[in-house]
Amino acid sequence: MTYNDISSHPLRPFPNFISVSKAKDLSIIPENYFSMFADNCPCGSERMVRLHQNGTSITAVTCVDPRCPFKLKFQVNDVFDKFGYKGIGPQTCGRIVWAIKEELGYVSLYEVLVNGPKYCKIGDSAEDDFIGALRHIEQSKLNLGTFISYLSYPLIGSKFEDIFRGISTITEFTELATSEGGLISFLSKRGVRSIDVIFYLVHFLKEIEQLYLYFEKCIISSSTNIVPICMTGRMVTSHGAYTKADYLYHCNLLAMTDDGDKLYDVISVDTISKASFVIAGADSIAKKTTKYRNAVDREEFLKKSGYISENDKFLFSPDEFFLYLLNGGEHSE
Ligand SMILES: [Zn+2]
Repeated sequence: MTYNDISSHPLRPFPNFISVSKAKDLSIIPENYFSMFADNCPCGSERMVRLHQNGTSITAVTCVDPRCPFKLKFQVNDVFDKFGYKGIGPQTCGRIVWAIKEELGYVSLYEVLVNGPKYCKIGDSAEDDFIGALRHIEQSKLNLGTFISYLSYPLIGSKFEDIFRGISTITEFTELATSEGGLISFLSKRGVRSIDVIFYLVHFLKEIEQLYLYFEKCIISSSTNIVPICMTGRMVTSHGAYTKADYLYHCNLLAMTDDGDKLYDVISVDTISKASFVIAGADSIAKKTTKYRNAVDREEFLKKSGYISENDKFLFSPDEFFLYLLNGGEHSE
């Protein structure tokens, strides 16, 4: 695969990249550095570099093939790491990837995680390690966005949580994207505007769906909603002052029905953009802290762009938010 193959895709990805060989022709890579930049990846595909500062310097070099087995080796290692199985290492992951490639003639993350044990008889303790790591994934319980972000796809990894917030199946995702004017406009509304990221997502969506169907039992269903809140300032209510951890604990108590069922999980996040609600203490309002001012701007933006209605709130006082949860997430006005 060459840089031209990939950049002529209808989405025109990687506009800021050129092939290593072209970078050499244009002297962007100076001659004395040629030996440090191989034109091709050991997989056979061309390598490309990202241009920086009007093309006078380069900041990254990578194989053009999104399915490069050498990249997959590190991806697999990263996946096991994220699911909490530490120390399997890229070397063992590389052996698994190559064993499958040899057997099937191709290899993908799906083949590694789903059919790996069938094809991959590498023997010794590495095989036990691999089986143990897979079991770790099978026993996980995560929401869809987190689950997919743990699959460590290039560039899109951490963005999945934003893309899939409040969505619990891939079908729901594609339906929502269609109803909101197509994938690109949907992604842009959720803050994903890089054409390279969109390209990877389109490229891997089918495989992500297959992995989702296989690991479906590890995904927490939509009935367990995650409500991310960002707390700023001191959580002082008419009943007294809470530490942030204590305030969060009480929010979760209010999320419980009389029968003891949990309606949603309230979690704490650090950044305004990741929060569904911001709870601002009176002190942060009085001092007009940056976080408070950002939250005011965010609320205005959400209303303007129609994410929340004019009567909905994004920014609460500690008392108001307790009341909001007490009313089951409905507004008291
Ligand atoms: Zn490669």
